[in-house]
Amino acid sequence: MGILTSGGDAPGMNAAVRAAVRRGWELGLETMGIRRGYAGLIEGDIVPLTPRDVGGIIEYGGTFLHTARCPAFLTEEGRHKALETIEREGFEALIVIGGEGSLKGARWLAERGGKVVGIPASIDNDIEGTELAVGVDTAVNTVVWALNRIRDTALAHERVFLVEVMGRESGYIALMGGLAGGAEIVLVPEVEVSLEELAQRVSALYRKGKHHSIIVVAEGVTARLGSTGMIADFLRGRTGLEVRVTVLGHLQRGGSPTATDRILASRFGAQAAEDVKAGLFGHMVAWQRGEIVRVPLEKVNRKEVAIDLRLYELVHQLAI
Ligand code: ADP
Repeated sequence: MGILTSGGDAPGMNAAVRAAVRRGWELGLETMGIRRGYAGLIEGDIVPLTPRDVGGIIEYGGTFLHTARCPAFLTEEGRHKALETIEREGFEALIVIGGEGSLKGARWLAERGGKVVGIPASIDNDIEGTELAVGVDTAVNTVVWALNRIRDTALAHERVFLVEVMGRESGYIALMGGLAGGAEIVLVPEVEVSLEELAQRVSALYRKGKHHSIIVVAEGVTARLGSTGMIADFLRGRTGLEVRVTVLGHLQRGGSPTATDRILASRFGAQAAEDVKAGLFGHMVAWQRGEIVRVPLEKVNRKEVAIDLRLYELVHQLAI
């Protein structure tokens, strides 16, 4: 079988590859690693993987197979070449580890006879059909780590901090990171809040006796409200408070995966290898209600609302 990691990197991808290679080996499956996602599939950039080759990687974020966004895979010519590589290399199955886009690619291959199993890996947690994707837990914990440090300064100087986190369409990282980090306010793309309402909420917090506050801003919100810097300027002007901005950016993507991500990735990887051995294809392994399940690739879309709105309420109920 071939295995690749594609799209945005997510901590735990390595653990998933390790598990698939090792579980597959035990079941008599030989694995070839395809480097740089679909780009490597098109170009035939392939290396053999034995259980020893995947040693010492469970603790690392990123992906040792490398990953890529691959526009060529969206063209007829590129896709044709990818199918040729599968044929030439004699892959009897393909495991695709990646986000919603990568799993759409997997679906395309499956619809053309490819024997594909997908593993959801994306820090945004926006993949329909799985409650958790590989990498989400680490990214949320990184946000919490950052908020702990920022709160020290916010408290010391009695400032308002706007902390911008990843999430263009999904407020999951902002909400869960904000809830665990004790943020006073979270701004997510799923819930519309005007600048005026935001300023009123901040002022109300200070009237109730707060001397600092942390506002977590999912990056998708900036498309509506203006950049986080502009939001800060507005708040400064309206409230007269000292307002600072921190953009966490790519700090959130990498890092050693948490135990939760390593365990989830190991279970997904092993299950994918077992499915290949059993001849089960055309699905994504997924996490639902504490169990691993199979979700047909044609049902794998981007979640329309990736957050639990009750938790959005809870953040603000607790910020009194
Ligand atoms: P992610 O997998 O993290 O969501 P992308 O959306 O960038 O990341 O997708 C990764 C790659 O998957 C793309 O560069 C492209 O090669 C492939 N891909 C994305 N969307 C599709 C699609 N609708 N059909 C086929 N392949 C796709």
